[in-house]
Order: sequence, then structure tokens, then C-alpha cells
Amino acid sequence: MKGLRLFRILGIQISLNYTWFIVFGLIAWSLASGYFPSRYPDLNRSAHWVMGFLGAFFLFLSVLVHELTHSYIAKKEGIEVKEITLFIFGGVSQLTKEPEDSKKELKMAIGGPLSSLVLALVFWILSLTTRPSPNLRLFAGLLGYLAFINLSLAIFNLIPGFPLDGGRVLRAIYWGKTGSLKKATRIASETGKWIGVGIILMGLFLIMMGNLIGGFWLVIIGIFLRSAAEGGLQQVVMKGALEGVKVRALMSRNMISVPSSFHINQLVEDYFLTHKHTTYPVTEGERIIGIITMKQVKEVPRNQWREKTVREVMRPIQEEMMLDPDGEAVDALQKMIRTGEGLLPVVQDGKAIGMITRKDILTLLKIKTDLME
Ligand SMILES: [Zn+2]
Repeated sequence: MKGLRLFRILGIQISLNYTWFIVFGLIAWSLASGYFPSRYPDLNRSAHWVMGFLGAFFLFLSVLVHELTHSYIAKKEGIEVKEITLFIFGGVSQLTKEPEDSKKELKMAIGGPLSSLVLALVFWILSLTTRPSPNLRLFAGLLGYLAFINLSLAIFNLIPGFPLDGGRVLRAIYWGKTGSLKKATRIASETGKWIGVGIILMGLFLIMMGNLIGGFWLVIIGIFLRSAAEGGLQQVVMKGALEGVKVRALMSRNMISVPSSFHINQLVEDYFLTHKHTTYPVTEGERIIGIITMKQVKEVPRNQWREKTVREVMRPIQEEMMLDPDGEAVDALQKMIRTGEGLLPVVQDGKAIGMITRKDILTLLKIKTDLME
């Protein structure tokens, strides 16, 4: 998931998903025009807006603390965390690997909601102590909201559907019982999907009863939970199936590459129509210098096919588009998804020694998962 890079804490890159700006605005607006005016009708509009913005900002910090707690425990358990991306309902910590046993998983999963509960308690006590003083009423209101929102964060994340924290707790318990991570993930994801459906139905019910905004939020949360549960399961199955498979073992050695001096009409005749791949590495001597795809060829007007060479039309090769023969197949697939390429060359010392297509990986994936059922 791409995001805006903010800063690093504990050696972890903190990034912001772009949806956050929309949500930040929506939260500040709904606080400033609904939540705070109804509780503090005597304060003026600008005070409500200040409270709204501070509320949204501290909500962001609360989510960050929640995610950092997960990451801190992960690090202590020996799992590196590369990046935390904050988005609408929370964050995604990018772990470099899955926890090895159910006890570690349980500790990591429960840490986030516990930190939110602690924050809720701290904000609640602070709001109680500031409330009696008339000068601090604005802060008391803000602190009360933060106590409420941290409690909500804890409860939402404890919903027992994978990949939410509650679902991870559920998975860790099943995992400990059955000894099978895959089975446990399947059960926790299934639960997550059905809870998602339940939340969607609840939202639709609220909409029918006239509560449009509340109902709409529930429907969005339900849809999010359902798709996250499906995605989480796929990821675990995929990682399990491709675990330990190296690029070298999967690549085909008879790489079909195009010399850079070829004209586009030659490329179409001798490659696209002959070998039926949609992507080819471009070489100059033995060196690989770029990649050419159908999409790029289609952008060249047909009457220029005899004049333009492959070199003029291709995408110059970048580090991002090359595979290391000793790299993992899982990473190769992720690179393909990131770059949007269906074929990547395997490069050793500047020379292309083979290639992998997305189809190669998916076929292996299908064979392996079918055999493992
Ligand atoms: Zn969490």
C-alpha cells in the first residue's frame, strides 16, 4: 500500500495512506459541527473548530500509539517491522515475516488494543480532573472525546475477525490448539467475513430507520472488514505455498529478448505474433537495457512502426524491475504487482540469465495450494 512518508520512530518508517486526508477532514468537520456544539453549545464556532482539529489530530496520534505498540512487541519477539501505514480505521504494520508460534502472535495482537485501553483510561482521568475548572472546559471536552475514541479503537480492533487484532487473538488460540496456522487463519477469516456481513446488515437496518450517517459508516466498516478478511487469508495461503521457493528454481532459462535496434513492425511480427508473450526484455549485446510491452507499442501510431526502434519506445530498466536469482518467489510476485509488469528478467552481473512471468508464479501457486488442501 503506497502512502506519504512522514518520519521514523524506533527504526520504523511511518507513512500515511492518502485516504487519511479525507478522513481527517471528515472527522474534524463532524466534531466541529456536531459532536462538540451539542455538548458545548455556549462555546463559539471557532472554539468548536479548534477542538475539532485537535480531536482529529490526537485521534491520529492515538492510532499511531496503538500500531507502535504492536510493532514494539514484534521487535522484542525478533520480528522486524519495516513500515507502518496509517489509514482510515487504523494502521497496517508491515512485518517482514509472520510470527513463528501462537504465543508470539497472541502477545503482538493483544498489545495494540491494550494500549488503546490504557490511553482511554488516562484521557478519562485527565478529563475528570480538568472538568471542574472553568478555564479548562475546552480541554476537558477534548480529553473526554479522546477517552471515548480510544475506547472505541480498542473495541473495534477486538472484533474477532482476522485480520483485526481480535481475529488475530482468535487465530492464535486456534493455532495453539490445532497446531495448523492455515486452518486457524481460515477459521478466523471466516468469522471475520460473517461479522462483516453482520455489520453491513446492521448498517442497512439503521439506514432504513432513518439514521443515514451512522448506517452508512457501518456499511463501509462491514465492507472493509469483509474484504480484509478475504485478503488476509489469501496472503497467508500464498506465503505458505511459495515459502522457500527461489527465483532461480522458477525462472525459465530460454529467455526471449528483443535487440534494441529492431523496428516496431519487426517486434510485432517476430515477437508479439510469434511467441505470444505481451512483454519482452530488451537487450544490447548481452546487457539488458529495458522492457517493452504491448501497451507501449500500442501508443506508437501505426504509420511510425517502420521508423521507430524498440530502444525509442521501451521502458529503460530500473533496479525495481530486475530479479535476483537467489531472491524469493514471493518477493518477485510482489515486485510484479508493484511495477505492474507481467514479466520480469532475472539478472546476474548485468546479464539477463532468465525470466519469470506472473503466470509462472500463479501456476505454481495453484498447483501447490491444490495439493495442500
Ligand atoms: Zn491493532
